[in-house]
Parts: sequence; C-alpha cells; structure tokens
Amino acid sequence: MSDAAEPTLVWFRRDLRLADHPALSAAAGRGPVVCLFVVDPAILARRHHRAPARLRFLRAGLEALDAELAERGVRLVVREGPPEVVVPAVAREAGAARVHATREVSPLGRARDERVAAALAGAGARLVVHHGDMLVEPEDLPGSAGRGYLVFTPFFRAWSEHPVPPRLPAPDRLEGPALRSDGLGALPAGDPLVPAGPAAARERLVRFIGSGAADAYDRRRDLMADDGTSRLSADLRFGMTSPAQVGRALGLPGPLTPGRAAFWRQVCWRDFYRHHLARHPEVARAALRPEMRAVRWDDDDALLGAWREGRTGYPIVDAAMRQLAAEGWVHNRARMVAASFLVKDLLVDWRRGETVFMQGLLDGDPANNNGGWQWVAGTGTDAAPYFRVFNPVLQGRRHDPAGAYVRRWVPELARVPAPRIHEPWRMSAAEQEAAGCRIGRDYPAPVVDHASRRAEAIARYEEARR
Ligand SMILES: Cc1cc2nc3c(=O)[nH]c(=O)nc-3n(C[C@H](O)[C@H](O)[C@H](O)COP(=O)(O)OP(=O)(O)OC[C@H]3O[C@@H](n4cnc5c(N)ncnc54)[C@H](O)[C@@H]3O)c2cc1C
Repeated sequence: MSDAAEPTLVWFRRDLRLADHPALSAAAGRGPVVCLFVVDPAILARRHHRAPARLRFLRAGLEALDAELAERGVRLVVREGPPEVVVPAVAREAGAARVHATREVSPLGRARDERVAAALAGAGARLVVHHGDMLVEPEDLPGSAGRGYLVFTPFFRAWSEHPVPPRLPAPDRLEGPALRSDGLGALPAGDPLVPAGPAAARERLVRFIGSGAADAYDRRRDLMADDGTSRLSADLRFGMTSPAQVGRALGLPGPLTPGRAAFWRQVCWRDFYRHHLARHPEVARAALRPEMRAVRWDDDDALLGAWREGRTGYPIVDAAMRQLAAEGWVHNRARMVAASFLVKDLLVDWRRGETVFMQGLLDGDPANNNGGWQWVAGTGTDAAPYFRVFNPVLQGRRHDPAGAYVRRWVPELARVPAPRIHEPWRMSAAEQEAAGCRIGRDYPAPVVDHASRRAEAIARYEEARR
C-alpha cells in the first residue's frame, strides 16, 4: 500500500469477488478503499430483470462478498438509486477522486457507465475502468477490428492463443472510512436456489474438476440427465468467479485433457458473445441479420403459455421448462431444444422466449442469452442455419436415451416405457393404462404437429429472405 490518504471507491457490479479482481487490487495498492454496490431501481424495473430467483442469488452473493470484505477490515456499502447520482455522492462522502470498476460491454452497462463518468467528471472525479470480466478484451484480440469475429472457430483460435493471466490474490487487509449502507432490503430475501458467493463458486469449480467431470466433459456434456457440466454459469454471470480463475484451475497454461479442452472451448463462447454484443449492440433488440427481421411470427399467447408452463406435450421441451421453473437452470442441450421448439414449432418471436429465460435463469445474461436465442433462431452470429429445426423426439432419444431427464421433471411420465418416453402420444390405450398416464388427461397431447410446423417455419424464413 502507498501512504495516499485519499480513498479509492471500488464500485462492484458483475465482479462479486475479491481475488483476480484488477480494479480492487489496483485500488488497494493505492491506499484506503470504499467498496460500493448500487441497487439501481431502473434496472430492477426492466422486463428482463424481473427475476426473483436471480435476484435472491445476487443478494446472497452480495452478503457473502460483504462477509469476505469484513474479514479483511471493511464492509460493503450498499446504496439505492440511479448510479449517476449515487456514485458521485458516495465518492464525495468518501473524499475519493477515483472510482474503480470492471468493464462491462452490455448496451445498458455502457450507457450507464458513460452517464456515471460524465457525472463524476462534473464533480472533479473520474471513473477508471479495469479488465477482468472477459479473458480477452475485444480490442486485445488479434484480427478482431471492425465488425469483429462473426464465426466462432477462428475466434476461438485467436482467443486460445491469449495467455491466461497469472493469479491475482485477494488483498489480505483492506482499510477505509466506514460509510452508511442502505442494506440489501430492495432485493428479495430468502435462500437462493444454490449457494452464492465467491467461496461457493470456488467449491463448484473444485468439485467439477476434482470429481473427474471436467475430464469427461467431451463425452458427457450433452447427456441431459447427467451432472456432466460445471454449473458455473451463474457464478460467471455475476463474476463470483472469472474465466481466468477457471482456466488456471483447469491447468492452463499447460496441456489439457480432451475433456478439459472441450470445456475451455465452451467457456470461450461467453467471451465470443460479449465481444459480439460490444461490437453490435443492436442485437440486444433485433436479429443481427437484417433479412431475418421480417420473419412473420404467430405469437400465439396460449401456445407461449403452454411452453412456459411445460405443457406442450413434447416431453423434452416440458422437462426443460419445468427444470427452469424449479432450478433456475437448464441443461444447454435442453435450452437449445426448448428454444427451437418455441421459435420454429410454435412460431413465437425469439425475443419473447429470450424474456422468459431472462426472468427464470439464475445465469440470465444479456450476452449469452441473446446469443443463445439468436443462434437457435438462425438470426445471429455463427448461428444454426434457419432450416435446422431440432426434432424434440430425436433429440430426446439421442441425449436422454433412457428418459431419465424426462422422468425427473415430468413425473406423470415416470412409468412410460423407454421406447415411448419421448413420444408418449404413440402409446396404445393399454400402454397408457399400464403407465398410469392417459394422454389428454394426465399429460397433454402435442400442442402442434412437429413435421407440419417445421415445414411452415422454413417457409416463413424463406419468405423473409426473399
Ligand atoms: C437459448 C439459450 C439461452 C441461453 N442463455 C444463457 C444465459 O442467459 N446465461 C448463460 O450463462 N448461458 C446461457 N446459455 C448458454 C448455456 O446453455 C449455459 O451457459 C450453460 O448451460 C450453463 O451451464 P454450465 O455452467 O453447467 O455450463 P458448462 O457446460 O459447464 O460451461 C461452462 C461455462 O461456459 C459458458 N458457456 C457454456 N456454453 C455457452 C454458450 N453456448 N454460450 C455462452 N456461454 C456458454 C458459461 O459461462 C458456462 O457456465 C444459453 C443457451 C441457449 C441455447
């Protein structure tokens, strides 16, 4: 620490950790710190953020962060209000001329940071933005000028050349003036669906690697009933862990087993979509491909409701949506199948599905969620071609062969024999009787016919492209 007496304000946002945190380390290196989190009512009021499960996860994560700060000598100051008002006010109270934060690339985050920087400048202070959310910043990736990478594989090649930065330990001791805190009352209380905070994230990471799941990732990641993926998405979403920490835990820099290499490649999609959103902020509202903005959607509210509630009659889709409601998390393969079904079987605008996911997911993230939906809808960067329509029955047979995933989330199908589990409407009356599941009474008949809707969806896309 230098002997500068003037504190630095560290404004936490989506970087809720103390280790591997360049903005905090730089501030602590200068002297006293004040650690701030701003609860912004305007963000809480937005459609995508009316997400009680995610907000409970956030609240628990902030409590854990506060406990870790307290062990080091300071507390988290929480203030409610517009950041462009709150941040300069707290800086003034603390006597801080510098505010450190971790860079964010979402359109909302960038606009907010511009407002805050302007307000700080007016008050004789400045916002100093550090890296740390992504492994590589868009400007630091070779070949990424202009429109940036629109295809994942070359992006991954350039990205994986980038060294994983060395460990940046959490500061041992912190000191700084104690300021009033509003507390976390504006966020919903209650136990989060899974433990939150840097220590919980670390535990999940260590378990994923120590259990052998990371080494088997290339073989198991698509099996929906398996616990074969890391479940680190909400931790990464809130920065309770970082891609650099994940990379080092895997053994980087250094050779990786095929399973770990496949996992690291998957983590790269997170940076890919962030870079993309940074370069093309318009994708937050519309299809990246202009010709795809003209697709005619049916937007049938009853069908959207059946999908959201897991009552479409397609077991894999219903299992995915019920897992979302229960766990605030859905297996990636199931996300793809459920999303494809909404867009291409039910002909509902992908943006409505994007909102439902944002409201339900603990990991609901503007870049990844938008990227995932545009990928499925065939409207985005390096997306699935528009004529690729996931067949929910074949996807089920391939990635949930015994039906264990369906049985877990759709208990009324628990006794349906494996050969029928992904198309229970094909059971004879006697089979339905034996399985204790009458179609149309205990479990819905399919709300649409997949084959005809598939043809209709392709026709609509072709019409838009003309
Ligand atoms: C329609 C749709 C919506 C999605 N919405 C989100 C979202 O809101 N938030 C979110 O974090 N992910 C989203 N994903 C991506 C992916 O489904 C989840 O990241 C993954 O299922 C989380 O589980 P995990 O942590 O066990 O993943 P793992 O397989 O263990 O992957 C490790 C990490 O890599 C990143 N990652 C993995 N796959 C992707 C991907 N396809 N795109 C971007 N990052 C990825 C995530 O940070 C993830 O935690 C979405 C995918 C689709 C198809």
